[in-house]
Amino acid sequence: AKCGPDGNFSKGEVLPFGPIAVSPSAGVLNYGQGLFEGLKAYRKTDGTILLFRPEENASRMITGAERMCMPAPTVEQFVDAVKQTVLANKRWVPPTGKGSLYIRPLLMGSGAVLGLAPAPEYTFIIFVSPVGNYFKEGLSPINLIVEDKFHRASPGGTGGVKTIGNYASVLKAQKIAKGKGYSDVLYLDAVHDKYLEEVSSCNIFVVKDNVISTPAIKGTILPGITRKSIIEVAQSKGFKVEERLVSVDELLNADEVFCTGTAVVVSPVGSITYLGKRVEYGNQGVGVVSQQLYKSLTCLQMGLVEDCMGWTVRLNQ
Ligand code: PMP
Repeated sequence: AKCGPDGNFSKGEVLPFGPIAVSPSAGVLNYGQGLFEGLKAYRKTDGTILLFRPEENASRMITGAERMCMPAPTVEQFVDAVKQTVLANKRWVPPTGKGSLYIRPLLMGSGAVLGLAPAPEYTFIIFVSPVGNYFKEGLSPINLIVEDKFHRASPGGTGGVKTIGNYASVLKAQKIAKGKGYSDVLYLDAVHDKYLEEVSSCNIFVVKDNVISTPAIKGTILPGITRKSIIEVAQSKGFKVEERLVSVDELLNADEVFCTGTAVVVSPVGSITYLGKRVEYGNQGVGVVSQQLYKSLTCLQMGLVEDCMGWTVRLNQ
């Protein structure tokens, strides 16, 4: 679907996956005026397809669009477009437990601009791809390195929204870390170089004496939908959850550490390396709290337990 700066989107259509044409002077190509989202569709054992909190992704895109001077689809338009795209691709939603259909909505300044300014035209696209389970054999812990040179975001920047440039800026740190055998990079805040922010594409949690803590949302980290969901699931199980500044020292002294995100769901951290020092976490990194939360959330997403949170949206097939 397309629209002008007024945000009045044309009716969308379902097209085969393939290249799209934009002007060489499109806002997205020259000035990074682009946003994306990521969510998943799961298949229940009876064949029903479930979306997980799609209206949350819609709201996050609307917030991000405001920051990036772009019009956005309404929550209703967004969710409807996601539903239609998944329906058109329903044969690609894997069976229960064998993965999910990853859904990637994109909003971009597709109109031509020369001088720095918001584009005069916008395009909203959704594409999908089946993805396997992130972990082939249950939960396998990841090894993170705390970044001491690069930052992902700074106060006043765009770190709090899902704009494309945030991902370009982490490619180098991630490449270096992967080259050294780490799974991913954990970023610290750009002001004190002391407080945890997030991983390249997931949020971070630390557990100490059964209290779960995670960095508060202050504009430099992405408000993850899995993060928000895990906080609510943990609270419903009686855990105390704190959203606040979490220092790197607390991380190194934690009982267990885990990451959350649409791709990884809940991913236990086996080790953290910071300034050449490596800390390993107990139970081969798969802590009891992470394990419990992983199970609760994945069972809910796949429709294996009753959705007492009201988070799953059934597709009318
Ligand atoms: N932080 C960043 C930078 C991300 O790209 C993502 C993935 N969207 C997350 C956190 C986790 O967010 P969510 O749980 O909504 O996938």
